[in-house]
Amino acid sequence: MKAVRFHEHGSADVLKYEDAPEPQIQANEVLVRVKACALNHLDLWLRMGVRDWKLPLPHIVGSDIAGEVAEVGSLVKRVKPGERVLLCPGISCGQCEACAHGLDSACRSYTLFGAFVDGGYAEYVKSPETNVIPIPGDLNFDEAAAVPLVFVTAWHMLFTRAGLKPGEEVLVIGAGSGVGSAAIQIAKLAGARVIATAGADWKLEKARALGAEEVINHSRQSVVEEVRRLTAKRGVDVIVEHVGAAVWDACFDSLATYGRLVTCGVTSGGEVKLNVQALFGRQRSVLGSFMGGKGELMEALELLGQRKLKAVVDSAFPLKDAAAAHKKMESREFFGKILLHP
Ligand SMILES: [Zn+2]
Repeated sequence: MKAVRFHEHGSADVLKYEDAPEPQIQANEVLVRVKACALNHLDLWLRMGVRDWKLPLPHIVGSDIAGEVAEVGSLVKRVKPGERVLLCPGISCGQCEACAHGLDSACRSYTLFGAFVDGGYAEYVKSPETNVIPIPGDLNFDEAAAVPLVFVTAWHMLFTRAGLKPGEEVLVIGAGSGVGSAAIQIAKLAGARVIATAGADWKLEKARALGAEEVINHSRQSVVEEVRRLTAKRGVDVIVEHVGAAVWDACFDSLATYGRLVTCGVTSGGEVKLNVQALFGRQRSVLGSFMGGKGELMEALELLGQRKLKAVVDSAFPLKDAAAAHKKMESREFFGKILLHP
């Protein structure tokens, strides 16, 4: 089959479109013909090898996969060839206490498609049957691939970690990111008032269309001052953040009393300062969040199938142009998900 692999870590140019062995399925596995695979920042981290992860090389990244079932193993009961499916990106044991509680990403054997197993930058990918989910409603393959990782992440951040309630005020940092564009919609649908930030006016217009009531252009406005103005000096109840150091102080200072700052990423760096007095005095919480459970993804998919939430697709590239797609993600000139088509 054709796949995009890297044999060494580095810039986008290490991505090679080449022949690779077709995956061989086990009795409990499913072979999926990939129709669309969405990019995530994780793909860039894995390609660059920044965390000294010992990946098997050559490697195929890609965690957000939609396609058609090509073949099923002899023990597979639920899934049939020809079905239109998406893959739950997180792979866990399904048997431990964390898994039994639906806390898949706390499973000690947790991994993702494209992390320690091959992912979706390929014509075919293999998956455990348990990860295969029928595409809900009339979503097309692009929409289905644009959903899983960012919607499960945003859902887990807002509800499971931050305990969002109707009527609260939510600040979403980086509206143009996949997580940002999902969080705006989920928070709005849950009855929150959403304030979103981005660095370009064209992104803020799109954020409003997704449900943000107020927007802040962080390239020319102070997030802290705007949040104070927009909330009558009160601050916001919940902040969804994935940028890290560059926005940390502004986020923390924008929290209301009892506010919760929930973060899932460090694209600008992970070392920050914390004023502990302002933490306990205002009874604030700082929360980490990582992926989420298959059950949470299925809850989000129900609403996507009903078109109450929508997949946000920026653009699509042929698989062979994966390097150009990575460069686009690095440029920050996008809103929503960037896709690859094998
Ligand atoms: Zn487990």
